[in-house]
Amino acid sequence: MSHYDVVINGGGMAGAVLALGLSQLKHKNGQPLRICVIEHASPNLSDHPGFDARSIALSADSHQALVKLDLWELIADLVSPIHAIQVTDQGHLGQVNMYAHDYALAALGYVVELHPVGLRFYQQLQQIPNIDLLCPATLSSWQQYPDKVELQCANGQRLSCQLLVGADGSHSMIAQQLNLERRALDYQQNAIIANVQTQLAHQGRAYERFTSQGPLALLPMSQQRSALVWCVSPKQSKVLMDMNERDFLDALQREFGYRLGKITRTGLRTCYPLHLNEVVRPWHHRVVLIGNAAHLLHPIAGQGFNLGLRDVVALIETLKEALMTPQVNDGQRENTSDLGAYSLLSRYGQSRVDDQRELVAITSGLALLFSNSDPLLSMSRNAGLMTVAACRSLKSKLAWRAMGKR
Ligand SMILES: Cc1cc2nc3c(=O)[nH]c(=O)nc-3n(C[C@H](O)[C@H](O)[C@H](O)COP(=O)(O)OP(=O)(O)OC[C@H]3O[C@@H](n4cnc5c(N)ncnc54)[C@H](O)[C@@H]3O)c2cc1C
Repeated sequence: MSHYDVVINGGGMAGAVLALGLSQLKHKNGQPLRICVIEHASPNLSDHPGFDARSIALSADSHQALVKLDLWELIADLVSPIHAIQVTDQGHLGQVNMYAHDYALAALGYVVELHPVGLRFYQQLQQIPNIDLLCPATLSSWQQYPDKVELQCANGQRLSCQLLVGADGSHSMIAQQLNLERRALDYQQNAIIANVQTQLAHQGRAYERFTSQGPLALLPMSQQRSALVWCVSPKQSKVLMDMNERDFLDALQREFGYRLGKITRTGLRTCYPLHLNEVVRPWHHRVVLIGNAAHLLHPIAGQGFNLGLRDVVALIETLKEALMTPQVNDGQRENTSDLGAYSLLSRYGQSRVDDQRELVAITSGLALLFSNSDPLLSMSRNAGLMTVAACRSLKSKLAWRAMGKR
């Protein structure tokens, strides 16, 4: 049985970045950590559960975090900067515009396509000597003991570790087995995503538009494409998914308008049912949950992975501190630290709960407010946008949040 310091179940965005970040840490005796990533989907699959056709917006803070982890260079040629954000409500005057130069930033955030980013991360995971990437491999069972966790993969391979990290997404088997308290909600919405081509150049501007059908975002991508995320009722999503390309483009144009001229083409459309799934205290004996395994958010504010990345950074910092703190056992100084110690994991978990809870509240509140055609709500929304547009400090707060700051 192979023994590791940390086993990460799930090599999506959160698991892959955590493994690459942890690989730089060392025990007191200079030995690098031994890390294993178990991932059941091969990275080149176009329908990979973690690295599919989705494009996501990384906040300015996530950019900084990836720079610090030495991972930005790996993907820098795959990102498109967001220089401005425009927020509008269909049929109303209220409008908010935010510009990177107002905050002395090169960009408010960056858009990345997950599929090519996933391929880059996998190449890197395969090259680092202290990471074992088991892929394709599926974790089938695991058991907690006082001093370790033992795991078994579906192919019979057995491993053990000090710390098990559940980075296995919203259907996490680690979370299911722990049976921790969770908050769940079906938003009764689906997100349709597609890459679209427009007549006019986006010039690095992201659009968030609240329409009668639901919130719609267009994020700037390479080759003058924009990434569409359109949240609609399940019934409406079926209609939109069944349309031919021409009818779909017409429907989109009606909702989005002509800010980018004519919307001329769309790529493959994919549909995601939207749920909230939040584990209230995502840690346990020798186990922590990160990323979507701990919190699945509504994509309305584009914050799911940004929050997951803050989990990753906080966990790396907590483990790094533990590795630097001298540990004494029976009067003897130890050369290694117990990375699965409950006190450590609880410290990590406590440091994350407020951020997680706050973002769940913000995204759920926004999803409710902006997916409702009630005239009163719609009026207050419009008044809200006008107030934000007029009030510099409120606008700064909104921009600050979009950049990932609290
Ligand atoms: C439409 C949409 C738009 C979004 N836009 C944004 C955005 O703009 N900004 C943003 O920050 N976030 C956004 N998000 C959220 C973001 O995509 C996710 O938060 C992020 O990709 C989740 O990464 P993860 O690694 O936590 O989980 P996942 O991507 O779900 O990865 C989990 C991995 O675990 C593996 N796995 C699962 N079970 C097992 C097992 N038993 N054994 C082995 N492997 C296993 C899976 O194969 C998968 O690779 C968006 C999401 C959606 C749906």
